Amino acid sequence: MTRAKQDGGLGFRDIQCFNDALLGKLSWRLINNPDGLLARILRGKYCKYNPILEVQAASNCSHGWRSILIGRELVKEHLGWAIGNGESVKIWSDAWLSTSHGAQPMGPAIEQTRDALVKELFQENTCRWSTDKITHLFPELAPQILSIKTSSKGEPDNRIWLKHESGVYSTKTGYQAALKSRTIDAGTGDQPAFQWAKKVWEVNAPLKIKLLIWKALHGGLPVNERLATRLIIPSSGCVRCGEVETITHVFFTCPFAQETWRKIPFKRDILLSGIQHFTEGWSLVQAEISFPPTGLNTGSLAAWVIWSLWITKNYWIFLERTFSEQEVATKAVVDAKEWNAAQPLKSNHLLVKQGREPEQKFEVICQSDAAWKKESLTAGAAWKYTRRRDELNRSTSLIFTFVKSPLVAEGLALRSAMEQAILLDYKQISFESDSKILVTAILEGSHISDLHGILADIRSLAGAFTSVSFHWVPRNSVSSVDVLAKQVLNAFVPNMV
Ligand SMILES: [Zn+2]
Repeated sequence: MTRAKQDGGLGFRDIQCFNDALLGKLSWRLINNPDGLLARILRGKYCKYNPILEVQAASNCSHGWRSILIGRELVKEHLGWAIGNGESVKIWSDAWLSTSHGAQPMGPAIEQTRDALVKELFQENTCRWSTDKITHLFPELAPQILSIKTSSKGEPDNRIWLKHESGVYSTKTGYQAALKSRTIDAGTGDQPAFQWAKKVWEVNAPLKIKLLIWKALHGGLPVNERLATRLIIPSSGCVRCGEVETITHVFFTCPFAQETWRKIPFKRDILLSGIQHFTEGWSLVQAEISFPPTGLNTGSLAAWVIWSLWITKNYWIFLERTFSEQEVATKAVVDAKEWNAAQPLKSNHLLVKQGREPEQKFEVICQSDAAWKKESLTAGAAWKYTRRRDELNRSTSLIFTFVKSPLVAEGLALRSAMEQAILLDYKQISFESDSKILVTAILEGSHISDLHGILADIRSLAGAFTSVSFHWVPRNSVSSVDVLAKQVLNAFVPNMV
């Protein structure tokens, strides 16, 4: 199982960590979607009395359940909370102070407050921090706590995976976390693991293909050589050429594979006949650059060729359908292009409209922007409403304190602009911001732990308009609100308490 490191081989530890990371994915789903079908079944069977995060493995439980609990340990180790309404999070026992590492206040001082919830630190009947309570209870943590921007609309708290800024668990970050804790256990530095991530997980291709490559790298594919050893089939020969069919043979050294690779529009010819291991072949083809017309990134097309070779081999075996080398190569190029085209565009202009396309002259355009000072963690926010119909032009600016990043400042500005627009009874509105990260998160519904409360509010507030859209615009088109935000920030003198 363990090949030499210079061959790009992978240690047993890597496989175990990867396994744990996959199991972690399952646990993550159970924790976050407790009403899903699988979760309901498992809960009924194993977690009748205890939530999944606390249940212990019974001596008679199944192997599958035991595995899930292994994954749970990995997830649990790096689980935190993003605060929305503070109703689900315990002050003293849950990790809620940071979105990047597990942190909670030390305590509690007295028994009666042991199970106190975060919402008890809010002002009466709101989701706003009570500065009095916080400075009284945690004088040294006050800035950190006040910089957590809660949901003003009372949206729920969210469990977050602390190993990614989105707060969402992925097999990749789970693997990195598992590897790290094992590395710490073993007390050794690790070079090849990074390589491995690069060779497999960072390839621009769908997960199914990365898994195929990962299995191939581990010698875990059912090729004839293996099946014959285990007496599943009589011959270990390749159906195309009769030589022993190893994994390396299927993908690189079989004359059929070599001819397929030759048909791929790479910039230079590659010589595959002498390849000894899959890792060697993969490193070679992965580095190849394809000709511009395909428009594909390095590594991506090679991954699709691997996929095509495998799929068409299975067609041959199971359906007795054969393909020519040209067909396999064309399939790879076409599939790769299609897949790449379907990926979310990281382009400059994002646009989504809810409801009917409004007549432009009725629509209010709202531009928001923020300025931020690192030394004082304060932000100036400004926004401006304009409308063509009646030459509406109205702007507002506001100061925010305890703001931990420019991104949070942008979020606060947009949320405030939305709240005021609702009060002003604007129905058709289009919000423009120069923060690409913010607008992308809104449009794609993706998560950012530091913005949890704010994003939840923005999504909820959006429902108040008959027509609403969000756009990213370049910085220079919001220059007038940018000036306002800077003005209010520079005029602000922090309270020297
Ligand atoms: Zn062959």
